Amino acid sequence: MVKICGIGAGYVGGPTMAVIALKCPSIEVAVVDISHSRISAWNSNKLPIYEPGLEEVVNQCRGKNLLFSTDVEKHVYEADIIFVSVNTPTKVRGLGAGKAADLTYWESAARMIADVSKSNKIVIEKSTVPVRTAEAIEKILTHNTNSKDIKYQILSNPEFLSEGTAIQDLLNPDRVLIGGNQDPEGIEAIKKLKAIYAHWVPEDRIITTNLWSAELSKLADNAFLAQRISSINAMSALCEATGAEVSQVSLALSKNTKIGPKFLNASVGFGGSCFQKDILNLVYICESNGLSEVANYWKEVIKVNDYQKSRFVHRVVTSMFNTVSGKKIAILGFAFKKDTSDTRKTPAIDVCKGLLGDNAFLSIYDPRVTEMQIQKDLSMDGVEWDHPIHLQPKSSSVVKQVNVVGDAYEATRDAHGLCILTEWEEFKTIDYQRVYDNMEKPAFVFDGRNMLNVDKLREIGFIVYSIGRPLDQ
Ligand code: NAD
Repeated sequence: MVKICGIGAGYVGGPTMAVIALKCPSIEVAVVDISHSRISAWNSNKLPIYEPGLEEVVNQCRGKNLLFSTDVEKHVYEADIIFVSVNTPTKVRGLGAGKAADLTYWESAARMIADVSKSNKIVIEKSTVPVRTAEAIEKILTHNTNSKDIKYQILSNPEFLSEGTAIQDLLNPDRVLIGGNQDPEGIEAIKKLKAIYAHWVPEDRIITTNLWSAELSKLADNAFLAQRISSINAMSALCEATGAEVSQVSLALSKNTKIGPKFLNASVGFGGSCFQKDILNLVYICESNGLSEVANYWKEVIKVNDYQKSRFVHRVVTSMFNTVSGKKIAILGFAFKKDTSDTRKTPAIDVCKGLLGDNAFLSIYDPRVTEMQIQKDLSMDGVEWDHPIHLQPKSSSVVKQVNVVGDAYEATRDAHGLCILTEWEEFKTIDYQRVYDNMEKPAFVFDGRNMLNVDKLREIGFIVYSIGRPLDQ
């Protein structure tokens, strides 16, 4: 029986390994992590991450051919194939700080593999890594005195899942990319990995390339997607300045078959743990290769995204008579997108911090993000009320600068303004008349996801700002 070990039980490692276990009942899959709390959550009824369909897949396989453990060394020792899905964040200090990928976790995993292995292994890069990382890993593995007689094959098999649709993406991927050495051993290793995916992925969707193309393709993929969002967001600013409507521009663009409809929604900006990190990494790689002009091109994608977030905050403040000091603003949605509990690099952090910088009081509701997470992201403790009495929200419960509440009606009660920051479906079906009745007047709506019916809201009496559309009079 083939044994697989997945190192890293996060947003990628957990769902990916669970789907392999589901689709390959004859393979034993062990998912390991150094985080005890994460592993105990994977072994409980409350999984550490929220993804539609994940619980069902885990429940089907856990205890059969899927297990979660902190005994990293045991399962690496036993495995034939090792998927490494550890985090590769942006370096915070030292050479390349603020841009380059921090490969500490990867290096530590590779050294551990070299230390404990007693048999040949296929080591797979699932994490997003800089191009030519496999070269470094090979050095670590083959120069370890412990591993002298062991043969390693390194493959790049980047993950293209999107949070919020991870299970769907894994069950029905548009492509699986496998990069490997083009010598006989490398080709053999590629064949073995292909055989695993062949359990459920049609052959024509499995692409094989050399190692460097596969590594670079993942960075390129995220950079292209983020660039599309920044492109439409840049257009949204121009729409507001000229009277064009970004949704109409998007529609026109989407009908061009060479462009297509996806990733054309203007918004408050992109977030998530990957886009910014991977573009910064791409920028660093370009600069390291003396390609500063190319680096500058990709830097603009991030700059436009930052501009979009600050433009939104600016719009909220200027619309509300140039100050939000002492005003209660309801924040609906905090996750970086719908159907995930992930708040890494969510635009909500920048927007909330911007509003707090202008002394607003925030009442935040997200259906999946915990209060602890929001307080951590905003790094705010309770602050005592010290604002002019005529602006003080009426609810006696509002005493802290940031309140996290249990539903949208509570969040909006006595609020002066309402910001939609995540496109949760439930925000479409709120009773906005009830919300309006309970808000201070004039009542403002700032739709950072362009998901609400502006005409209906205006009919109710709201003053509405949505991105890339003409302003309310
Ligand atoms: P994550 O932080 O959720 O998970 C990483 C896990 O690895 C953590 O639980 C951590 O404890 C564990 N870990 C770190 N070092 C370890 C070690 N030496 N041994 C055992 N466990 C270790 O990260 P993620 O979101 O799952 O992302 C993982 C990688 O996948 C990153 O490179 C990311 O860029 C890439 N990726 C992420 C997504 C996404 O949507 N999140 C999509 C595609 C690719």
